[in-house]
Amino acid sequence: MNETPLQVLNRVFGYDRFRGAQAEIIDRLIAGGDALVLMPTGGGKSLCYQIPAILRPGVGVVVSPLIALMQDQVDALRQLGVRAAFLNSSLTPQEARSVEGAMVSGDLDLVYVAPERLLTERFLGLLDRVRVALFAIDEAHCVSQWGHDFRPEYIQLHQLHERWPQIPRVALTATADAPTRAEILTRLGLEQAGQFVSSFDRPNIRYRIVEKANPRQQLVAFLSNEHPGDAGIVYCLSRRKVDETAAYLATRGMTALPYHAGLPAESRRTHQARFLREEGVVIVATIAFGMGIDKPDVRFVAHLDLPKSLEAYYQETGRAGRDGQAADAWMTYGLGDVVMLRRMIEDSEAEERFKRVEMQKLDSMLGFCETTECRRQVLLNYFGEPLPKPCGNCDTCLEPVATWDGTQAAQKALSCIYRTGQRFGSSYLVDVLLGKANERIRRFGHDQVTTFGIGQELAADQWKSVYRQLVAAGFIRVDFEGHGALCLTEQSRPLLRGERTLRLRQDPDRKKSTGAGRKP
Ligand code: ADP
Ligand code: ZN
Repeated sequence: MNETPLQVLNRVFGYDRFRGAQAEIIDRLIAGGDALVLMPTGGGKSLCYQIPAILRPGVGVVVSPLIALMQDQVDALRQLGVRAAFLNSSLTPQEARSVEGAMVSGDLDLVYVAPERLLTERFLGLLDRVRVALFAIDEAHCVSQWGHDFRPEYIQLHQLHERWPQIPRVALTATADAPTRAEILTRLGLEQAGQFVSSFDRPNIRYRIVEKANPRQQLVAFLSNEHPGDAGIVYCLSRRKVDETAAYLATRGMTALPYHAGLPAESRRTHQARFLREEGVVIVATIAFGMGIDKPDVRFVAHLDLPKSLEAYYQETGRAGRDGQAADAWMTYGLGDVVMLRRMIEDSEAEERFKRVEMQKLDSMLGFCETTECRRQVLLNYFGEPLPKPCGNCDTCLEPVATWDGTQAAQKALSCIYRTGQRFGSSYLVDVLLGKANERIRRFGHDQVTTFGIGQELAADQWKSVYRQLVAAGFIRVDFEGHGALCLTEQSRPLLRGERTLRLRQDPDRKKSTGAGRKP
């Protein structure tokens, strides 16, 4: 071999040095060993198999479920002068035959293949006639039956090892938790593989969560104060909200394009292409957008709705700042989100035990929103990677959250639920606490209960925050049979009886919470 991996990195890719474990992984594969690579999104997984594929004799076969992105990856490689091609259902039979011909004649460095095509007897037979440099199994967590991206074909990929035991294999994923990792190792027969687990910290991403007041205006303020002309992604839960938000941002002079599964394939393609190729495009999307998107200069990811787990939050925010430059993960969050997500889980057709897991994941997400500690510490801790010191680059580090003794307020809030019969949502309860004798309250006779008007010391927003925190901390349960009514839990008893105290998070005032009050 005449060139070293570092020389290829310089000459072909134009980079000075390897990042993290890239060099070690590449050496291991070139030497013929197997590897499992766990790296966060943007960590630089692709080079780990591209460079060995270039340096080892033969073609590197990359299995990827992301058919839509193969074209982009291959275009990018060709521009660098790498002999790359892909095989998927978008090719005509003639085009596919010509790629296969190039594989057999040894004229390719890399070929990207969808798993269902790779696993056909015909293709496996073709591989017998091809010199294969390595097998790279991208998005390897798709092999996990418990994950959200499960692909049954991935289970069959262990055949590669049985048929060609001498060809090195590398499995790559950004999904880190220990059960998934173990599943990848056993299902793909990688027990002997070297494991390369990177830190999941993304220090250049600044995490910030603001209380939801007027989310659209808050978003516009955030974008125009901090990201004028920047490319970014805005996530919403529903298709309708995606359409409305994109239209609204467009009226404010931004290039904002919608993306969701309800749009015609053609619009999805052009919007994605414009986001990747033009500067300063804001994509407003449901979670249908993003898996595998390689755009290094995404400067912000904004969430108008709460993701349903910290895994989802981490994946989505991880699309920001892949180039290592400062980027923002910004989210608005309110009690309505919690109620809606709980209801979606409750109403789903899934099995009970699955729902329980989903609820627990949502609770971890809520704990993250309501924490008074460093957000990065909470996030990394969840992924089993404790961070020894507060990060200094999240909202709670930059503007430490004040707490207050919320014991009395919590008692009032809870007893108001009790006195009105555990049948109402937070808006109604707040009106009762503030002593607003409106028509509805009079009709139910709740202007006569002992909690009527006992909450004048706090404003409506503050009471909303008290209720949200009590829900997040498990003192209050949301009852879906009762249309989102708030009910007491066992846990609320000691608090009501005065047997324990409670500190609550002091939400920063609105002006700050739009992001305008950011400190240097
Ligand atoms: P992943 O697949 O892990 O999400 P990629 O392989 O797409 O990440 O890499 C993310 C970005 O980082 C890409 O733009 C890539 O070119 C860049 N990159 C990867 N390795 C290096 C390196 N050693 N030096 C500089 N940039 C790198
Ligand atoms: Zn922090």
